[in-house]
Amino acid sequence: MDQENELTIRASFIKLIQGDITTQEVDAIVNAANGSLMGGGGVDGAIHKAGGPAILEDCKALVEMQGPISAGMAVITSAGNLPARHVIHAVGPIWMGGTLGEAEMLRLTYEESLKLAVENELSSIAFPSISTGAYRYPVEKAAPVALETVAEFLKEQKKGIKISFVLFNEETYNAYQAALNKIKASILPKKKHS
Ligand code: ADP
Repeated sequence: MDQENELTIRASFIKLIQGDITTQEVDAIVNAANGSLMGGGGVDGAIHKAGGPAILEDCKALVEMQGPISAGMAVITSAGNLPARHVIHAVGPIWMGGTLGEAEMLRLTYEESLKLAVENELSSIAFPSISTGAYRYPVEKAAPVALETVAEFLKEQKKGIKISFVLFNEETYNAYQAALNKIKASILPKKKHS
């Protein structure tokens, strides 16, 4: 039986943690980056600060090769001094009111990050709550999109992947816990009526 903050899907699982993503010992942490890949505030700033200059060097080399990245895309770099092995830099959508395809774009951002992880044979990935800081996506709307996208992806994977959502504050954690509870309720076997 899963803990309240966990959901098992085939050989994989999703776990919610309240904490700092820069301390996670996983194959990759995901950065809520901006398209320039030149660092920024929020989780992006924290990752570059804790990981040191090697991450920015890799980002610069990537931008020189392929130009800036747009919303919905993800790229992978080394992780410098972080305990994680890699950083996946993913660019989420800026919230514009919800009618400009933000949910679809947020879905794509998680999918592209997960595809990159599978391509690189990574099996433990930590996500922050993409877009819900400076990009202003309301967290109670972003949390179900994030969790449903990851759950759908894991359903297709034979090999187990450990996904953690590392949520920086209580409000964000609570929004993800509420969304996880709804997903769990929707996939429980239906009770037979006698
Ligand atoms: P975005 O620009 O995609 O909105 P932000 O970094 O501004 O990205 O915010 C995304 C989320 O990351 C917010 O919930 C913010 O509180 C959170 N965050 C900030 N620092 C950290 C950290 N060190 N670990 C995990 N999450 C963090």
